[in-house]
Amino acid sequence: MTKNDISDINALLASPKQIVIVPHKNPDGDAIGSSLGLYHYLKLKGHHVSIIAPNDYPEFLKWIPGEDIIIKHDTETEKSDVLIKNADIIFTLDFNALHRTGNMESILAVANATKIMIDHHQQPDDYAQYVYSDVAMCSTCEMIYHFIEMLDDVDSINSNIGTCLYTGIMTDTGSFRFRSTTSTTHRVIASLIDKGAKNAEIHNNVYDTNSFDRLQLLGCALNNLKLVKEFNTAYITLSQEELNSFNFKKGDTEGVVNYALSLQDVVFAVIFIEHKKENIIKISLRSKGSFDVNTFARTHFNGGGHTNASGGRSELNLKSTVDKFISILPVHRNDLNA
Ligand code: 5GP
Ligand code: MN
Repeated sequence: MTKNDISDINALLASPKQIVIVPHKNPDGDAIGSSLGLYHYLKLKGHHVSIIAPNDYPEFLKWIPGEDIIIKHDTETEKSDVLIKNADIIFTLDFNALHRTGNMESILAVANATKIMIDHHQQPDDYAQYVYSDVAMCSTCEMIYHFIEMLDDVDSINSNIGTCLYTGIMTDTGSFRFRSTTSTTHRVIASLIDKGAKNAEIHNNVYDTNSFDRLQLLGCALNNLKLVKEFNTAYITLSQEELNSFNFKKGDTEGVVNYALSLQDVVFAVIFIEHKKENIIKISLRSKGSFDVNTFARTHFNGGGHTNASGGRSELNLKSTVDKFISILPVHRNDLNA
């Protein structure tokens, strides 16, 4: 984002505007945290602000300040479309290609509003007038902090904004342990605590609210864990039947793939989750070190993301998807240090 961009945006925000904030489909902690952090900030500045998420998000995010104002496009389509059509400014957060909003793609593509992208994923598409894209950032939430910093307005960050941004930084960095966590991230976190984010409470709200079923599902996933020693790779499968038997709810499988990655010597871990209703297998990919799961997901599984964390999908059945995956591994023998 250039100085010119910032002065343009400053000018845009100088008078009250109709603003819509959009996170990606199946929003995670960073998508919801950044949307709500920016929401509270823009409200404070006197704007009319709505957040429209493509669909619902996990229960463990349903405590974040202001969360109940989020409109879901899939169940409130008409209301959403009117807001999008009438918006002066649309912020798109934590994604960089409009198809990541699912069914919202077409209405966003034709909207007249000035679009501002704030995002840390690789290879941004060219749909926004203003782009703040930085793949080195640990989270979009950290970028919202820096965005407010660029607007020279850090003093306006209050405890609600701080709580929202803290949450997304925490979830996207695996509680400050992934490689993307920098000393600046920690400085931002320190500042957010000073502004009123209650770190222990936030951690408790997100991580210590497991249901019995969720832990049993984790047990099932760990039972299904397979190690492909030759390629320093591990993977987990969960069939629809298994999900059903533990009353699967959105968010229940969040983070499960990290158990596979925690195996000694494993540099590449994947979870395959069957979604019978959509007739697809959802795939989450994680790596340690230089193995690039963004390229892997883009090349083989219609997805993308970051070097060490990406997602994708397959239209084959669960077994054929796993077979395809295993058949690809030899191609990457060198990159997997195998
Ligand atoms: P997750 O495995 O947690 O769903 O996603 C990991 C990362 O990859 C997240 O940063 C997410 O935004 C990104 N991601 C997940 N699915 C897709 C996809 O289909 N396309 C792209 N470009 N990125 C994805
Ligand atoms: Mn993110």
